[in-house]
Amino acid sequence: MVDLKSMLPEEVTRTLQDMGEPAFRGKQVFSWLHQGATSFDEMTNLPKALREKLKEHCPLQIPQLARKQVSQLDGTMKYLWRLSDGNCIESVLMQYHHGNTVCISSQVGCRMGCAFCASTIAGKVRDLQPSEMLDQVQFTQRDSKLPVSNIVLMGIGEPLDNLDNVLRFLQLVNHPDGMNIGMRHISLSTCGILPGIRRLAELNLQLTLSVSLHAPDGETRSKIMPVNRAYDVNDLFDVCHEYFQKTGRRISFEYAMIDGVNDNDWQADLIAKKLRGMPGHLNLIPLNDVVESPFKPSKRVGAFQKRLERHGITATVRRSLGGDIDASCGQLRRKEMEGKEGSPS
Ligand code: SAH
Repeated sequence: MVDLKSMLPEEVTRTLQDMGEPAFRGKQVFSWLHQGATSFDEMTNLPKALREKLKEHCPLQIPQLARKQVSQLDGTMKYLWRLSDGNCIESVLMQYHHGNTVCISSQVGCRMGCAFCASTIAGKVRDLQPSEMLDQVQFTQRDSKLPVSNIVLMGIGEPLDNLDNVLRFLQLVNHPDGMNIGMRHISLSTCGILPGIRRLAELNLQLTLSVSLHAPDGETRSKIMPVNRAYDVNDLFDVCHEYFQKTGRRISFEYAMIDGVNDNDWQADLIAKKLRGMPGHLNLIPLNDVVESPFKPSKRVGAFQKRLERHGITATVRRSLGGDIDASCGQLRRKEMEGKEGSPS
């Protein structure tokens, strides 16, 4: 299957030239695709015959809106998209004062196995194509009628476990002839796949790297994040320091506060020790209760934050959006897979 929307402009042009078309058609088609055209018939500056040929050779696979939930609390919108092969993924649109942010998925499911996360319960089904990541941005924007200025790769999946497709997506969404969203408006979150972080450091992209830390000591981290058995947290801290040296970009660490597991004072002290020499930022996340998980939200978020701050580490408690609509990773998709009813939109 020819996936035109995952191609760079020069590749679209080459594909069209191979079909006997002049080069300028490539730019036209690229531009339509990246404005979110849903059919070749919308591409009114193309000759009818070419539109028919494109429909036949490279049909557009448009995701269908399977479900949408809107938070009564804060207007957060959660989208469940059905892909052309029947798989479902989630995107979330959040309205922040600095702009509308869409959180997208990078894989169907996830194979990282974090013990507190709903996205990974049934494992990974497949990687998403660059076009399927773009579709989430474009169609969430279109449906919500809210212009998207920021993107976070923090939905279902591990972006660094699908790095080639993610890098291509970044190139496309950042392209001046495409959506032209600046790298500084994009965040990517990883559970800590070290070769991937090193590759990002080499590329020196201006995006914001978020690292899902969740515990500073190997023993705790291995219990809640199996990835720690492959890439130990001490090496993770080293690579984060390298990343900062190379890019000069401050890393943001995500820390879901779990009662009695990672909320002890000594863990705050250890974080401070490990971050010495780089300007880390801790994002303390009140744990979202996932029905299938034995973990409970910590009652020490404030105390932990103060302890970090006493060490000179900036720590903010993430405002939880969409708490009434299962807006945290993978929860809506799980409901759909189980055929359960979600809360009404
Ligand atoms: N795989 C990437 C992208 C997922 S981002 C990563 O691990 O970073 C989603 C963020 O939400 C991660 O920091 C993840 O650890 C966190 N998360 C998952 N389940 C959660 C829950 N139940 N409560 C709070 N945060 C959770």
